[in-house]
Amino acid sequence: MFVGHYSVSFVAKRIAPEVPLWILFVAAQIVDIFWAIFIATGIEQVRIVPGFTASNPLDLHFMPFTHSLPASLLWAIGLAAITAALLPSCRNRRAMLVVAVVVMSHWLLDLLVHVPDLPLWGNEHKVGFGLWNHFAVALLLETALLLAGAFWLCADSNQAKHRKRLIILTAVLLLVHAGNLIGPPPQSVTHLAISAFAAYVIFGLWAWFAQRSN
Ligand SMILES: [Zn+2]
Repeated sequence: MFVGHYSVSFVAKRIAPEVPLWILFVAAQIVDIFWAIFIATGIEQVRIVPGFTASNPLDLHFMPFTHSLPASLLWAIGLAAITAALLPSCRNRRAMLVVAVVVMSHWLLDLLVHVPDLPLWGNEHKVGFGLWNHFAVALLLETALLLAGAFWLCADSNQAKHRKRLIILTAVLLLVHAGNLIGPPPQSVTHLAISAFAAYVIFGLWAWFAQRSN
């Protein structure tokens, strides 16, 4: 899953308004941010195989440090602790729990769409329900999730002054996702890593911009 992960960030923002939206954007994708770094540096591995799934060409055969269940738990605990350490406003149980749950939600949403490539332990016992092989279903699910999350946050009266920016952010996420689906497969793993990393950074910055006070 790609932009659909941000649906959880939107919902989480309403539950724990003290956590900045950009932190929740980073939380939703922290394992993919490090996945991009790890595939670029060879710590994890991916093969680009056109037609590997109906939705994308990624054979994600080795990603135990980012996408295994125990690794996800560690990323969740780690990011919640770092957030609390850096931001005094997030030094409470609700904020830390929300950040951790948003990190963990990445694994659960990936579980729906990935073919069995998510390790339950190490690089073994891989799971994935494979919705990526049902192009229309995967696309509809991801779009519906994102729109529902964005709608939920926009309906919050505290967000009245940010509503227009949130709608633009959501539209940009959907456009980038559509471009990904209809565009050619990445030329190389390095290209894939750089474009994924850049997208996550830009989306995080955009989330920060969408919630600025002026
Ligand atoms: Zn992922």
